[in-house]
Amino acid sequence: MDFEIKRKDGAGRIGRIDLGGWRVETPTIMPVINPGILTIPPNEMKEFGAEILITNSYIIYRNENLHEKAVENGVHSLLDFNGPIMTDSGAYQLSVYGDVEVGSKEILGFQNDIESDIHVPLDLPTPPGVSWDRAKNDLEVTLKRAREGVEVARNNNSVIAGPIQGSTHLDLRKKSAFEMSKLYFDLYCIGGVVPMMESYDFENLIKAVVASKSCLPFNAPVHLFGAGHPMVFAVAVAFGCDLFDSAAYALFAKRNRYLTNRGTWNVKEMEYLPCSCPACHGRDVNDLMDSELLARHNLYATFEELRVVKEAIRRGELLELASERARSHPRLHSALKWGLENGDWIEETTPFSKKSAFFYTGEESLYRPEISRVHNSIKRYNLKGNILLFLAHDIDEEIAGKIKCSKDIQVMEIKPPFVYPAELSRTYPYGQSLVPKHIDSGRHEKAIETIKEINKKYGDRFDEKYIVGPEYKDYTEKLNDIKPLMTSQVNQLL
Ligand SMILES: [Zn+2]
Repeated sequence: MDFEIKRKDGAGRIGRIDLGGWRVETPTIMPVINPGILTIPPNEMKEFGAEILITNSYIIYRNENLHEKAVENGVHSLLDFNGPIMTDSGAYQLSVYGDVEVGSKEILGFQNDIESDIHVPLDLPTPPGVSWDRAKNDLEVTLKRAREGVEVARNNNSVIAGPIQGSTHLDLRKKSAFEMSKLYFDLYCIGGVVPMMESYDFENLIKAVVASKSCLPFNAPVHLFGAGHPMVFAVAVAFGCDLFDSAAYALFAKRNRYLTNRGTWNVKEMEYLPCSCPACHGRDVNDLMDSELLARHNLYATFEELRVVKEAIRRGELLELASERARSHPRLHSALKWGLENGDWIEETTPFSKKSAFFYTGEESLYRPEISRVHNSIKRYNLKGNILLFLAHDIDEEIAGKIKCSKDIQVMEIKPPFVYPAELSRTYPYGQSLVPKHIDSGRHEKAIETIKEINKKYGDRFDEKYIVGPEYKDYTEKLNDIKPLMTSQVNQLL
């Protein structure tokens, strides 16, 4: 299996997986196929945009009829799907029923027998919130089975996924990812997150992703196991998830649940259909009471959101999209904020220049890698002469031009949260950014922090420090060695 990264933004990427003669573009979702209950025939899945499917080898293993057919003709024939198929091992059943009637090596052998394209060892999914000792013990079992699994896969020359566990203990998630990465899996699956998805616990979900990703090789694809709601794609992709899977499209449809990128709605409580997919077009809410039709809408909505995410990566607007989507649920918003604040490795993968502008979309933007990068780049400047800080907007252009030409004055533009040498005013993200006219205190504080940093580094080189602009008071009150200057007085300085 090969994985090539084509485009990047934040920690998100558009990638290409080459597998068994098939090609899959990521980020994507693998619709879950229950071979016993086919809500939508697998051979129709490509119409929705599915390039790869996932099915449960344990269900096939346990059913005599399916077992026989799968071993005889392979899983592709069983599902009638001309594309790659990943197989899960029964870990989900293990997490729900507490026991399964198969060993890890046995189920891996079976996945090989039925010609699955990606195999998964029987890991131990640990639910959120359990004690550290329990999570640690479960993790040891998963690691042992993973080591055995790698050996089995090498003997069979098959592709295998490495499950990451550790519950809500981030040190264990990191340990899990670190130990797994030493085994060189083809891809890594962040597991044990279904209960988090079900309870809208997006903060622990993103914590698990950020902790795991920080210890995984950057160039390996990462699968968020059991997550497949369109509302989380933008945020999860922004933190480096490439693959999703979900049975939600079918399971939710049975309970009249209509998936949107803003959340899940009950069709029975809806009056309008906001979507124009082939399932919704020309129909009304009463038609969507039909669970097959609703499952079709759910799949269309799921793949549509993934295309929106991919286009955002291509345009360099993934973090803006993630901010927008995070507004649909307060817990998703705090998850995004936590991830940006704590996932410092995202800075390494965020492009330095973009064609698009940096959009300040709210408080969480303050934690974006571009902002910390601006703050840290102060060390590299070569500032000389007196310093004049000016609040970028509302300054007479003629005066601004004169100031910028003066050799004795170093002009620093303030466009909260950014503070930067005027020479960079046409570059990303400094001048090439859009910030709202109304300034919140967080933006001021970030700018003040940066000015303090400038003072620390270069303060003794400047004879005088001035600030000019309509909101100078916000700064002089907190930075007592900076003198305010009226716009009309700027000429005297030149
Ligand atoms: Zn629809």
